[in-house]
Amino acid sequence: MTVRQNLEEINKRISEVCVRSGRIVENISIIAVTKYVSIERTKEAIEVGITNIGENRDEGFLKKWEEIGSSPKWHFIGSLQSRKVKNIIDKVDFIHSLDRVSLAEEIDKRATKKIKCFIQVNASGEQSKHGIEPEQLFEFIEQMKNFSSIEIVGLMTMAPFTEDENVIRECFRKLKQLRDDIHSHGFPHAPCTELSMGMSNDFEIAIEEGATFIRLGTSLVGNER
Ligand SMILES: *Cc1c(COP(=O)(O)O)cnc(C)c1O
Repeated sequence: MTVRQNLEEINKRISEVCVRSGRIVENISIIAVTKYVSIERTKEAIEVGITNIGENRDEGFLKKWEEIGSSPKWHFIGSLQSRKVKNIIDKVDFIHSLDRVSLAEEIDKRATKKIKCFIQVNASGEQSKHGIEPEQLFEFIEQMKNFSSIEIVGLMTMAPFTEDENVIRECFRKLKQLRDDIHSHGFPHAPCTELSMGMSNDFEIAIEEGATFIRLGTSLVGNER
């Protein structure tokens, strides 16, 4: 399948979810997650109108960035080691995986512009998941005001790996509640308007629950590995 064909199918599905859940299509941005595909396939996505690219490793990110440059928005979506920050910081538009103070310190130290960050939250409560625990989120947000280069634009989560739609939905719903809570505080450093949630298998549920950024790899650009 070409990216164009996949995108048409996905856009159709997004429209249908929006109709049944009262969402507005324009309020949902697609991030093409290109970690499993080549530079050529990534360029194909950009040619058919994708404007947001996501990578989860600094190697893959840099390889593609060197070839493609800064015309799309670049999203770093994977867990980020502090020592890798300096490699990507001037090239990235959004970091989706802010999950500890030491990482915020490093970002703030290296950044030459404001970096839009999502705080990754362990909204499912699974032991193994990355992310800040919901109970610690407010304290963490408070701490972020010390870092003038960091703007908290929203929250990100990954749903548990399960067939159980209710469990997935519960996780997304929880993230939205947390987002609404934080947003209502009106912190200048944390407008927190966005929700990065939903992947190939669960993006429709995520949209129903309020996602503003969905991260699509396999269903959009495929998996060449
Ligand atoms: C790989 C990845 C995705 C995309 O996964 P698909 O299931 O292929 O759509 C989304 N978010 C993160 C954080 C990822 O690592």
